[in-house]
Amino acid sequence: MKVLVINCGSSSLKYQVIDSESEHVLAKGLCERIGIDGRMTYQPAGKDKIKYDAPMPAHRQAVELVLKQLTDPDNGILTSVDEIDAVGHRMVHGGEKFACSTLLTDEVLKTVESFNDLAPLHNPPTLVGVAACKELMPDTPMVGVFDTAFHQTMPPEAYIYGLPYEYYEKYGVRRYGFHGTSHRYVSLRAAEILGKKPEDLKIVVCHLGNGSSLSAVDGGKSVDTSMGLTPLEGLVMGTRSGDIDPSCIEFIAHKENLSLEQVMEIVNKKSGVLGISGISSDFRDLDEAARSGNARAALALKIFCHSVVKYIGSSIAVMNGVDAIVFTAGIGENDDVIRSAIMDHFGYLNIRLDDEANKMHGQERIISTDDSSVKVICIPTNEELMICRDTVEIVTKKMVEDAVKEIMANQ
Ligand code: ADP
Repeated sequence: MKVLVINCGSSSLKYQVIDSESEHVLAKGLCERIGIDGRMTYQPAGKDKIKYDAPMPAHRQAVELVLKQLTDPDNGILTSVDEIDAVGHRMVHGGEKFACSTLLTDEVLKTVESFNDLAPLHNPPTLVGVAACKELMPDTPMVGVFDTAFHQTMPPEAYIYGLPYEYYEKYGVRRYGFHGTSHRYVSLRAAEILGKKPEDLKIVVCHLGNGSSLSAVDGGKSVDTSMGLTPLEGLVMGTRSGDIDPSCIEFIAHKENLSLEQVMEIVNKKSGVLGISGISSDFRDLDEAARSGNARAALALKIFCHSVVKYIGSSIAVMNGVDAIVFTAGIGENDDVIRSAIMDHFGYLNIRLDDEANKMHGQERIISTDDSSVKVICIPTNEELMICRDTVEIVTKKMVEDAVKEIMANQ
């Protein structure tokens, strides 16, 4: 099958076409500045990246452009849009309804829409993307793969907050967790690398990117994670504060004469390592500034590592042990200095990094020493592949069900 994988943000749309048999990416790209002016990036496999400006007043035009580009007579990879067998959409919030990926029927989309309150920044753009694809490819099956789904296996003691229980019952206020597709892919891949069954492993996954989260994966199931009702909780991130005393919000609002919304904007967009350093949310900039003697950049990096160390420690405690610690996403895959600074805190468990193996960027590799009590592994995440696999599984199941129904009807 040829699967189009779509990941919509508020003003962007990432896409890939994957051949599900070979699992090769046939083409990929990005539409940016949707609703502003519009910029298109397109890269067919093995060829140069093409970039150009094109008007994209809304996501519909972005999807239209993607389809036009994929079928372009000169550098397209398809002769017709009909060659796309299915579309897999990255969805953000599936609430408690979606513990796994699902066919995006009108009824399902209505349910997803009901979670917009829980993810006002992230859910609406994904729904807009699905609507655009449905309009332009009405006969192509669409599947939704939810960021929250993998964490639906957490037990109540991990997801119920210490708040009046009625808020959970009335409004669904609880820990959901995010980056689930990445945590799932990386934990499955770690088991493959170690030649073991996921059921036999306790894994801590550190997804460290612009947004960062940790998960404790015991026997292939997420049993705890650092993000919460929204992606704001947990680790100190690029621009998000992560854990703070909730009283800080009221205190800052009073002192600075700001509204609740304004303070929430600050803790989401102006905090984290950006807020601490006053320089950047990008770890490459912070590494460089810290090396040049900038004390606040160095402090921001130390605080980030401290928060990761605390969550790794708590994840190990929650699972009552650990077999592997995995690093993934932009920082986790690339920043050997950060990986080393974090893992230095686990010598007491006899977990040791191989300094030579650790000196690499963006590769799949075991970076612990042979005699380390726990394997430490770097695994580039691949959410698109996971979305493609789920899409194929669900669409194939549906095709079989439809065929059986037809046979029964004709009997
Ligand atoms: P997103 O959450 O946007 O998907 P990514 O997983 O792509 O984020 O991570 C992006 C972040 O990864 C950048 O902001 C930067 O901090 C970090 N990063 C990327 N490459 C490197 C590198 N070579 N060294 C250190 N940090 C890096």
